[in-house]
Amino acid sequence: MKPANAHLAALGTTVFTVMSALATQHGSINLGQGFPDTDGPQDVVRAAADALLDGRNQYPPMAGVPELRQAVAATNARFYGLDVDPATEVIVTSGATEAITACLMALLNPGDEVVLIEPLYDTYLPVVRLLGAVPRLVRLTPPKWELPRAELAAAFGPKTKAILLNTPMNPTSKVFTAAELAFIAELLQKHDAYAVCDEVYEHLTFDGWRHIPLMTLPGMRERCLRIGSAGKTFSLTGWKIGYITACAPLATLAMKAHQNLTFTTPPNLQRAVAVGLAKDDAYFAKLAGDLQARRDLLAEGLARIGFGVLPVQGSYFVTADFAALGFAGDDVAFCRHITEQAGVTAIPVSAFYEGDAPSHFARFAFCKRPEVLTEAVDRLARHFGGALTATARSA
Ligand code: PMP
Ligand code: GLN
Repeated sequence: MKPANAHLAALGTTVFTVMSALATQHGSINLGQGFPDTDGPQDVVRAAADALLDGRNQYPPMAGVPELRQAVAATNARFYGLDVDPATEVIVTSGATEAITACLMALLNPGDEVVLIEPLYDTYLPVVRLLGAVPRLVRLTPPKWELPRAELAAAFGPKTKAILLNTPMNPTSKVFTAAELAFIAELLQKHDAYAVCDEVYEHLTFDGWRHIPLMTLPGMRERCLRIGSAGKTFSLTGWKIGYITACAPLATLAMKAHQNLTFTTPPNLQRAVAVGLAKDDAYFAKLAGDLQARRDLLAEGLARIGFGVLPVQGSYFVTADFAALGFAGDDVAFCRHITEQAGVTAIPVSAFYEGDAPSHFARFAFCKRPEVLTEAVDRLARHFGGALTATARSA
């Protein structure tokens, strides 16, 4: 038999699925895959249920239902002062995951180069490669996750078509600053390149950190495709409703990609997300405030146990250095070990790098009920407070 697709044949199952399965197998508290353990707002869920019952269950418009496109345009204006035409500049997709692929499809020809920043989200590299494009990786390293400006500039060249930028960033929890974004914008102008902006954690920032869409910088309105996710904004990750905001020519291409990927996205969920996006500012402030308190609970607990906890400016995740705990293996072994022996699951940070990677950091999700986080910390404290077995030390 002829070999089928080489990229997919070489790809393993995503680390999130692997670690969630391991968590289930061992009955451990799953702080691995990033999903809240309670539903989002009841009025939004109710709106989705109601919308199933009023006879609009056939294919919705390809670009998304008008209510949601209008709501996405309105939140762009409300939070970022962006003037967006809902009729031509918003495309609704089945999750940000589809949106990322659709935006890359909209921009890339085989042989184009794409600048990506490690550590990176797991779908970026496979999709770039499946499209026949060439990734140019630039690396951030813990504990500071500083943007290496010279290396970033060197990654751009005549073949660069785009950068894929994730801010607030998973797993580093870094929120890119205005100065960093201005540096990136300058590179895009200089090299006549585009940006796919994965901004799914746009509303999840802490301690006064504010998310700035690259699209709001001078000269960037026509170069950026900006992606949001209802999963993150309404704590409903299973719904898979994403939205792209882009100038009309790029949005048209993203829509053609969507046309060939899924064509449309469930209409009742779209209509419910429109209800969600119309919520007042207090909803968005409380979402971030509640998460910040959970971040503190987990971060302080991990620090008490002896983890080196890195700062968290946004997103669902805290990265913790376990080097001081005396565990002998790498991060993959560590995450497996705590799942099996302590009853808490995390994600090895090396999974977000290609090739050689930092190997003593684990990513813990804090988008969980406070009592669950407390129990997770207690379990880890009990385990590391003396129970680190001889096998673990020499693993
Ligand atoms: N991008 C990043 C950085 C993410 O962490 C996630 C995870 N949810 C996604 C995209 C995918 O979002 P969605 O569930 O809306 O497809
Ligand atoms: N975004 C989630 C995370 O980083 C996982 C989503 C998925 O499992 N594909 O944990």
